[in-house]
Amino acid sequence: MDFDSLDFHPSIHRGIQRLGYETMTPIQEQAIPPVLAGRDVMGLAQTGTGKTAVFVLPILQHLVSRSKGKLRALILAPTRELAEQTHEFFISLGSRTNLRFITVYGGVKQGAQITRLKNGVDIVVACPGRLLDFVDQGVIDLSKIEILVLDEADRMFDMGFLPDVRKIIKQLPKKRQTLLFSATMPSDIRKLSNEVLRNPVTVQIDHEMPVEAISHALYPVPQHLKTSLLVALLERMDADSVLVFMRTKHRAKRVGKQLVAAGYKATSLHGNLTHNKRQAAIEGFKNGTYQLLVATDIAARGIDVSSISHVINYDVPHDANIYTHRIGRTGRAAKSGEAFTFVTRDDESVVRDIERTLGTKLDRRLIDGFNYNKPAPPPQAPRSSGPGRREYGQRNQGGKKNKYQHHGYKNKR
Ligand code: AMP
Repeated sequence: MDFDSLDFHPSIHRGIQRLGYETMTPIQEQAIPPVLAGRDVMGLAQTGTGKTAVFVLPILQHLVSRSKGKLRALILAPTRELAEQTHEFFISLGSRTNLRFITVYGGVKQGAQITRLKNGVDIVVACPGRLLDFVDQGVIDLSKIEILVLDEADRMFDMGFLPDVRKIIKQLPKKRQTLLFSATMPSDIRKLSNEVLRNPVTVQIDHEMPVEAISHALYPVPQHLKTSLLVALLERMDADSVLVFMRTKHRAKRVGKQLVAAGYKATSLHGNLTHNKRQAAIEGFKNGTYQLLVATDIAARGIDVSSISHVINYDVPHDANIYTHRIGRTGRAAKSGEAFTFVTRDDESVVRDIERTLGTKLDRRLIDGFNYNKPAPPPQAPRSSGPGRREYGQRNQGGKKNKYQHHGYKNKR
């Protein structure tokens, strides 16, 4: 289905042309018409499916011919990165409309956001915490909201934002259109959607399933050899841009530095960075200054870089849902991608969970010529983080053969 077949305002059409969109993605085809018709919609879709345009275009269309400067549409997002990214969609698709959009999130000074709010806006993309601060301070009026979007609702739940989200919803008019997007449907999100959606149209795109274009593989490795394996893998890969996922901020920072030392154009993205540094990392990754971005889950949430060729899980995610979110970063908008996951002997149960979710057993690969038996360095005395701190899977010390070789996994490369 072409965008031309929907009767968008000419200024919005120009935005669509500007982004080079021609045909709609499946979720757009199914969800844009009911959203335009004013229906509540529950979209079960991960990033990479084109879900953002599902609400951005109809919101622009709904507001374009109204009086300007009254806050009528609110998009709640779990992270400032996602809020910024959604804001960019509004800028790209709505720059010819005269509508005004801003982002509201914490971690930066309030002043500029308050000034922009006071100057009059039509659409706010916000993270719940800062928005609630503004509601409490009386600097934002939510009483004229006509459309509410809860984006990546499952992630808002994971991050503990649901109580804030509920408080915000209490401030909104009861008569409104509500759209809820979530990659997964845990029971708390189902409950929330029952509370906030009225007779919704449900659109489900590959719910809890990664985009098919992605090929997946596991790389068994002892914990202490992960960075060496990463470098060995990168040497053998033909990769444009690689997003590497880590479990902790500390590791994201350390491995980012190790990759730079190994001669790669790499940077890291994690919650300890200032807002400006985060933006610089994301921008640098988008424009190709950095080939590698080493990131934690929360920091990388929703990163929209359509050319990501590989996702590497340096650390296995906690569960299959997070795996789905992570690998949704590659193969975006039907481009093909590859997702590689490093697994230690401690990761077996999560791997089984992932394989169950994908409905297939994943390839186990070993890298030719890589020394899997290199012993771990002697353990260092623990630093300030206290006693008993041990890196994941670091049991295999003393040069013992690792489990996967005993099991004789074949090298597929
Ligand atoms: P999203 O799932 O909204 O994060 O979008 C994923 C990527 O797909 C973004 O880079 C969008 O710009 C792109 N995209 C969305 N809709 C279309 C479309 N109809 N045609 C081509 N690319 C699209």
